[in-house]
Amino acid sequence: MPELPEVETIRLGLQGKIVGLKISDVEIRLPKIFQGNPKDIVGSKVLNLRRRAKILLIDLDNNLSLVIHLKLSGQLVYHKDGKQATFGHPIPFAGTVLPAKTTHVIFTFSDNSVLYFNDVRQFGYVKIVKTSEVEKLKAIEEFGPEPLTYEFTPEKFKEIILKKKMPVKLVLMDQAQIAGVGNIYANEALFLSKIHPERKANTLDDNEIKKLYDALLEVLKMGIKYGGSSENAYVNALGEKGTMQDHFMVYGKAGKPCPKSCGGTVKRITQAGRGTFFCPSCQK
Ligand SMILES: [Zn+2]
Repeated sequence: MPELPEVETIRLGLQGKIVGLKISDVEIRLPKIFQGNPKDIVGSKVLNLRRRAKILLIDLDNNLSLVIHLKLSGQLVYHKDGKQATFGHPIPFAGTVLPAKTTHVIFTFSDNSVLYFNDVRQFGYVKIVKTSEVEKLKAIEEFGPEPLTYEFTPEKFKEIILKKKMPVKLVLMDQAQIAGVGNIYANEALFLSKIHPERKANTLDDNEIKKLYDALLEVLKMGIKYGGSSENAYVNALGEKGTMQDHFMVYGKAGKPCPKSCGGTVKRITQAGRGTFFCPSCQK
């Protein structure tokens, strides 16, 4: 699932492409993906792109916003010439030409450029909402603080960690506690801070909490720096894969030697139905 760094990479990529463009057409090829009347946004101009946790928000100049959730396998791919959207590289689950079978919504702009929403698993969605009501959406209202903003201080993080008795990894992944962190970055942050993923959050000492805070910010920034991780369907706004997966320390590395050369082997366990990867000798 695309996490904070992946959605942020898409936002940054689209920001330079579609701000200022007018939507001239919306083609919905799979109705369940799209909520709202597409006629309400045709003729409106893109003002700004924002991100909240793993959700992308496109603000329009008619007081409406598009709320886009990629869920497991959504893709948002821009092409400057929609009539010949041929890519020099294959897009996962779509191929080199768009629209593909997995293309469910097509936004065309007045300069003939196009934004494709693809989703092989079809759990993602595009929703039209009044801009003033975005923050009140149930999916958004419940989010905890954004880790890459000033509100997410070490003190705030400590408060979040210490009030929870559940395993620390699950706290990191709880969107109501911290927004945007999913399985990949939770695994990587715990490895970097040498904390066992099953430790109960409220048993971490001050030093461990500070290390985990720093590690979390570090891996999220790394994810953005490398354009996100493309172990599955994720691609950036130009349909290109990110390279964060080449920098994973433990995620998906069960049976491999610990990257810290401690002599240990990366182990996989399951927590809340998700794979947890860690080094039993480094992470206590
Ligand atoms: Zn180790």
